[in-house]
Amino acid sequence: SALVLPSVELLSPYETGKPLDELARELGVTDAVKLASNENPLGPSPRALEAARRALESVHLYPDGAAYRLRERLAAVHGVTMEEIVQGNGSNELLDLIVHAFATPGSHIVFADPAFVVYKLAALAYGVPFTAVPLRDLRHDLEAMAAAVTPKTRLLFIANPNNPTGTHVGRAAVERLLRELPPEVIVVMDEAYIQYADAADFPDSMRLRGLRERLLVLRTFSKIYGLAGFRVGYAVGPVQLIDYLNRVRAPFNVSALAQAAAVAALDDAEHVEKSRALNLRERDRLTRELTRLGLSVAPSQANFVLVDVGRPARPVYDALLRKGVIVRPFGNLPTSLRVTIGTERENQRFLDSLSAVLA
Ligand code: PMP
Repeated sequence: SALVLPSVELLSPYETGKPLDELARELGVTDAVKLASNENPLGPSPRALEAARRALESVHLYPDGAAYRLRERLAAVHGVTMEEIVQGNGSNELLDLIVHAFATPGSHIVFADPAFVVYKLAALAYGVPFTAVPLRDLRHDLEAMAAAVTPKTRLLFIANPNNPTGTHVGRAAVERLLRELPPEVIVVMDEAYIQYADAADFPDSMRLRGLRERLLVLRTFSKIYGLAGFRVGYAVGPVQLIDYLNRVRAPFNVSALAQAAAVAALDDAEHVEKSRALNLRERDRLTRELTRLGLSVAPSQANFVLVDVGRPARPVYDALLRKGVIVRPFGNLPTSLRVTIGTERENQRFLDSLSAVLA
């Protein structure tokens, strides 16, 4: 049709699950466990909640459109200037703004497949041609991605750790890529899960910014900070790129409650540490137990694991669902399920249910 871009005609919207209470009612279970969206099983920081409650008093006012306090705190945390930071309605909005600002219909985007699906959705939404470079051993193949860059390429997305695999690319490979790509390519390092990483060679792109002018680092409050429902993320990059993102950004894109909660969450190091420790402990245990069941688990640096169940995953997903355990299947990974690392009790419930389903 002439109504929309041909790529929008082809696009299927990002799928989210039904509300948990609705799903539980349909399934006839009272204690459903949701391990499907990589949320923090410990919830938000109590300090963030308190700050949001206080902010509610001023909800008749527009939020701070420049997110001054939040950017000020983030600038201090990362050792950058406020002009090098832009806030987003989740890092998801920033992915969209990045494609909006920097990709024109004549340009080209490179990302991995499977990686975070929003890179592809944004490319399709704006009608920008892209190359989806297959993972190799479930990891980003940075050499193949560099080889996919053409003179038209303006953006290259890397999720590190990757979603849905949980795998990571090491510092040496990332450094090489940042140095070697043509200067006009903007590299977007999406580090939504970085706080869960513990590999000795895991690169912190914030520290690699000196290697490349055109580098944008994305972070979010949705994962370890436990604020997914508030929708706050941010990008750090050179002033020139951040300025362009501000030109295409809507004026009040992050709510006042979300800004207040995010600032307070940054001050609660204890909650972050508790969340990280639980995740590391349970990621190890889950990986061990799934391996004991004879299944292969991708080495994860994130707050989820991708497990290959060795048979079509969809019926396994459905059977788990009937037991009230919600995980995530992926069409392009037909024998695998992605499972968010929950509390010890939630993970045990998943392990017991999976053993029963596979028996
Ligand atoms: N990047 C990656 C790799 C993700 O997995 C997610 C969340 N699923 C996001 C970005 C977006 O997160 P948010 O918009 O909640 O910040």
